[in-house]
Amino acid sequence: MSFPPLAYNQYHSNSVEYHDGKTACHSSCEPSMKTIIIPAMRKMTALLLLCFSLPAVGEGLPNLGDISQTVLTPLQERQIGQQSMLQIRAGKQFLDDPEINDYLNQLGYKLVENSAEPSLGFEFFALDDPSINAFAMPGGFIGVNSGLLLTAQSESELAAVLSHEIAHVTQHHLARIIASQQNNGLATMAALAVAIVASRTNPQAAEAAIVSLQAHTIQKQLDFTRSHEQEADRIGLDILQRSNFSIHAMPEFLTRLQLSTRLLEGPTPTYLRTHPVTSDRVADIGNRVNKQPYRLIPDSLDFQLARTKLIATRKTAPDAIAYFSDALDTQKHGNPIAQRYGLVISLLRSGNIKRASLELSTLHKLAINNPMIETLAGKVKLAENNPAEALAFYRTAVQNFPQHRALIYDYAELLLNSDLAKTALELLIDQLVRHPSDTRLYELQARAYAIQGKILEQHHAQAYSYAWQGNLHAAHEQLEMAKQAGGNFYQLSVIESDLRELRELLGTQEKP
Ligand SMILES: [Zn+2]
Repeated sequence: MSFPPLAYNQYHSNSVEYHDGKTACHSSCEPSMKTIIIPAMRKMTALLLLCFSLPAVGEGLPNLGDISQTVLTPLQERQIGQQSMLQIRAGKQFLDDPEINDYLNQLGYKLVENSAEPSLGFEFFALDDPSINAFAMPGGFIGVNSGLLLTAQSESELAAVLSHEIAHVTQHHLARIIASQQNNGLATMAALAVAIVASRTNPQAAEAAIVSLQAHTIQKQLDFTRSHEQEADRIGLDILQRSNFSIHAMPEFLTRLQLSTRLLEGPTPTYLRTHPVTSDRVADIGNRVNKQPYRLIPDSLDFQLARTKLIATRKTAPDAIAYFSDALDTQKHGNPIAQRYGLVISLLRSGNIKRASLELSTLHKLAINNPMIETLAGKVKLAENNPAEALAFYRTAVQNFPQHRALIYDYAELLLNSDLAKTALELLIDQLVRHPSDTRLYELQARAYAIQGKILEQHHAQAYSYAWQGNLHAAHEQLEMAKQAGGNFYQLSVIESDLRELRELLGTQEKP
């Protein structure tokens, strides 16, 4: 789409408010907006095209192209990854927790900076799956199961697994396997995406109903080889060391994984199937690592909080309260800040607002200035049911942590529930400049316009939310509704232009 509602809304809301004389928007506002928005638009258009100029999963699809090709281009890799991500995001296993996903990206990018391809676009995300697994898809998409997050005993162990996955991506291992399959004339883009997701995620839990015979055939051939594993270990260790994590964490984690697997019955866990861990491999890493001195690297507070949040939400509320109370009372091994954070989450869940509030004040005395703790503090304020106080709290918190998405979503919700749609829109438009593909921001924006009775704008924002979720048909429907709602010449020409581009994308999708 060449003209995202982001830019249009920004101009629109400014001009309307400018005429009303109600805003502080000064005359220099427009030119500076242009400079901010135009690069964002280009980025968005490019991403959308990259993402959706592909055939949809399950539909008749073109081949990847030249079958004599032995390596996929970076663009093809990214497209296969994007296509796989659309399936994962639409699945029930996708862990839609912005704080856990932001944490993974923060850690992941620290590692990527020390990899062979620091400028490659990566995306790290969590799956709600108790099995111990992490996996890389082409184009830099790396998934981590909640089971692995909970099994890792230190941040270095988690970093070790991520470094290994990053190395598979930077060495284009999966892309090479895929390219070799193309020689058999097997692979279409969509079948590949289905096969990759099915081979990387838990097959019992995967509700991918559209596993074609073709995808099934490819799925069996997507496992890494022993030489891939050795290479990923060697390069992963290097990334780990350069990123200042403990390299000893890699053999420690693999050994624990092997031991835990021996105690399990049933099929081999996905991680071990796709990344075969042999005694040779563990010994090889051990040899490299043992020559180096042991260094104790403390875990970040964010690692502790992300893990604690998972623990606190996976137990029943009474069990979680008992678990964290016991840990704090007996001063068990663990981080007391994280334990109290877990206790506050659990008390909130059980509806014990008074005690949650008390424990939160104790927590605030221990650790201030952490965005996850402030997000939780906001939730306690909301539960206390004092909107004026909550609004004041969020105004400050959002200024202190403008990048923390969970806090932004909660604040926007509160503004909408408090009939402050105009303030909500200012916040959302500012955030959309930073995160032009954030579907939740568009959804909140659509709600804000609905409250203001701006029907065209409402459907326009909703269209973008759907488009970024990969649901192009729903996006098209919303654009049609925006058109029917009517508007001035400028607004309608923007909608027309978006409709045209979307139809082109849909046309690409539907070709046999
Ligand atoms: Zn591997």
